[in-house]
Amino acid sequence: MQSLDHRLWFSPSDLSQYLGCEHATRLSLEVARGTRPKIHATSVYATMIFKKGDDHEAAHLAHLRASGRDVVEVGSSADFAAGARRTEALMRSGADVIYQAPLVIDGWRGVADFLERVEGTTALGPWGYEAVDTKLARVEALPSHVLQLCFYSEGIERIQGESPRLAYVELGSGLREPIRLREVAAYFRRARAGFTTAIAADAPTEPFRCDHCDFCAFKRVCEERWRAEDSLVRVAGLRRNQIGLLRGVGVGTLTRLGSLEPDVAVPDIRRPTLTGLVQQARLQHEGEQAGTMPFELLELEVGRGFARLPEPSPGDVMFDLEGDPFWTPARELTFLFGMLVRNGERWEYVPFWGHTPEQERRAFERAIDLVTERLVRWPQLHVFHYSAAEPSAIRQLMATHATRELEVDDLLRRGVFVDLLAVVKQAMRVGVESYTLKQIEKLAGFERTAALASGSDAVLAYERWQTTRDQRELDAIAAYNEEDCRATGALYDWLLSVRPAAATWPTPPDIEPIAEEARAAQREREQLRGELIAGPEAGSERWFAGQLLSYHRREARPAWWRYFALRGLDDDALLADGEALTGLEPDGPRVAIHRSEDIRLRFPSQQHKIGAGAYDDENGRKVKVVSVDDAAGTVTIRRAQKRTDAPTPRTLLPGGPFDTGPQQDALLRFAHSVRDEDDRFAALKALVRRDPPRIAGLPPAAPIQTTDLGQQQRLARNLERSTLVVQGPPGTGKTHTGARLIVDLIRAGARVGVTALSHNAINNLVDEIELAADEADLWFVGARKTSADDKGAVTAGPNRR
Ligand code: SF4
Repeated sequence: MQSLDHRLWFSPSDLSQYLGCEHATRLSLEVARGTRPKIHATSVYATMIFKKGDDHEAAHLAHLRASGRDVVEVGSSADFAAGARRTEALMRSGADVIYQAPLVIDGWRGVADFLERVEGTTALGPWGYEAVDTKLARVEALPSHVLQLCFYSEGIERIQGESPRLAYVELGSGLREPIRLREVAAYFRRARAGFTTAIAADAPTEPFRCDHCDFCAFKRVCEERWRAEDSLVRVAGLRRNQIGLLRGVGVGTLTRLGSLEPDVAVPDIRRPTLTGLVQQARLQHEGEQAGTMPFELLELEVGRGFARLPEPSPGDVMFDLEGDPFWTPARELTFLFGMLVRNGERWEYVPFWGHTPEQERRAFERAIDLVTERLVRWPQLHVFHYSAAEPSAIRQLMATHATRELEVDDLLRRGVFVDLLAVVKQAMRVGVESYTLKQIEKLAGFERTAALASGSDAVLAYERWQTTRDQRELDAIAAYNEEDCRATGALYDWLLSVRPAAATWPTPPDIEPIAEEARAAQREREQLRGELIAGPEAGSERWFAGQLLSYHRREARPAWWRYFALRGLDDDALLADGEALTGLEPDGPRVAIHRSEDIRLRFPSQQHKIGAGAYDDENGRKVKVVSVDDAAGTVTIRRAQKRTDAPTPRTLLPGGPFDTGPQQDALLRFAHSVRDEDDRFAALKALVRRDPPRIAGLPPAAPIQTTDLGQQQRLARNLERSTLVVQGPPGTGKTHTGARLIVDLIRAGARVGVTALSHNAINNLVDEIELAADEADLWFVGARKTSADDKGAVTAGPNRR
């Protein structure tokens, strides 16, 4: 945002800023008008990210030039209007690629990274342009990227008289994500209308803490205001909507909330939540007044807080990771796995470093091996960390490198990882604004001496090391990482020292150790995968067969990750999350059914995704859900009568992924066949190689596209260990054609298998096959693999068994 010649100029970045925080727009407006001083300070970290973005853009520019594109740079100029005129002139002259292209529309201006010439008729001639921006995002474009591209595309439309159909984001991963502009146009219009209305209204705004604060130039301004106003924003754990609810009953400051009388009710804030917020505000207020860090223990709860704090074991490990999220545009790197292991009376720090993806894999394996080897000697050991980042990174690394999968699954199911942040939050309230380790470790009297003070400092040191290779940078990172591990250990000891005598130790889950056959199968799978993917080009038959070996486990992971992420959330967070079913209370008598009993539980109104299979949050056991009645707010679960004394679940978590063991075994057979180059699975191999269909009597790659059923039947009958695709949009007769091809093949003596992604699709086809068989006067017997639970399974009917 800039004031020039007595008018305000806006940019797409202003729009993104507005969507992130309206108050930031207000402060930027004040800066543009000159009523607030401009903030020049940019953090070293932010500068590093900007530079990475510039590097990514430069790499793409070099790639375009290397691939023969003729790139013309508009060039930076203080005169924006002149730059925009040059962009237009280049577009009119038909330049191939225009780099750094200023565009101006009605008081808005921005610089597109690239405008690429495309074929098509526009007012310019038989060509037009599409906008391309380079971004560091790796998986997909963010809404702010889309808004920018919408603006550039509108600028292009003004010049060429036609709206481009697509715009693109060159992601850090190297992928190019297309944005269909028609699909996002309404979002852009709405966002821009909201922004211009807010600017025109010129109304005061208020800062609320959000995800953008850490990267915002006005962070210090807002923090000073929150402190000066004794703002409710400072109460740890208080959500933005709760601020409005509290103000509705006249509670507008942290101090007032901390002294709220117990009989005051706040509509839409549950009593236990309100009690917790009042206690939190009071402790913060007391701490600030006295210059101390007061804490109060909460009432003991089954499966939460101190009940999650395990007994010490001689095998215990304190764990902390360091990673560089911007290692390359395409990839982050976890470069240090720091472990503090108990060695008799001493704690010994063991760092595993990895400076390349291959070294990262080895460091990850060594860290996991260290834990699993110690588990053999000390089955009750735990790996303590602070925050959910460590197990999350472990799962991610397991997926990335497709290694140590059994071991990591086993560690997770055994509850070996213990997040002390979750324990602290559920066990006590502390008079601090933020429950970071750097704050909470002070309860344990831990003092730091390392030169680096934060994870961001460690990233910056690592970035420096990559340029200088100065060992002192790595030493500083190790010292910082070791301090985090030692602080975690000190916090654990302190938690043990304040643990109430009445607290119970968590019961270790009843998990079978990993069977040696399973370990051997995993080793075989990993070795086979390694053999297949080492060397051949990505997308080749061998590469594909190797990658498929980890497909099902990769697919299953998000369901498990979601499950583990939900475990440990408090009731309010679970209610807000919309997947778990929480706040369960027994409702009515239990009903005996054979050796089981049905237990009805009631729950408060909430969104959830609980179906037939669910897990009890407190003990991780699977629970059979008989029925859920959302209107009545009840769920009925069934469990064995021998577990009558066990507490009923308070929270149900959605179930995990489906069992895909047979599919995994099938892919293993296929991978063996590809490696051994035997003659099994010829059609499947042809499909993986993307071979054209091989048909007896026709030369390879002969044109075969036809809608004539007789010709299609001949093609299918003459297929030689190959595949034929029947393709068409919905409603064009694929089922009709498929059924007649199948009947023709049965008549020719073939055995025909049918598979699909749903029972419905199979049933539709099978129905159609019966009709086609009647038409053709063909009698046959079909068989269907099914189970009693398959609601859509066909179990009876003519021609079926
Ligand atoms: S610090 Fe946060 S609340 Fe303040 S302007 Fe920036 S993003 Fe908005």
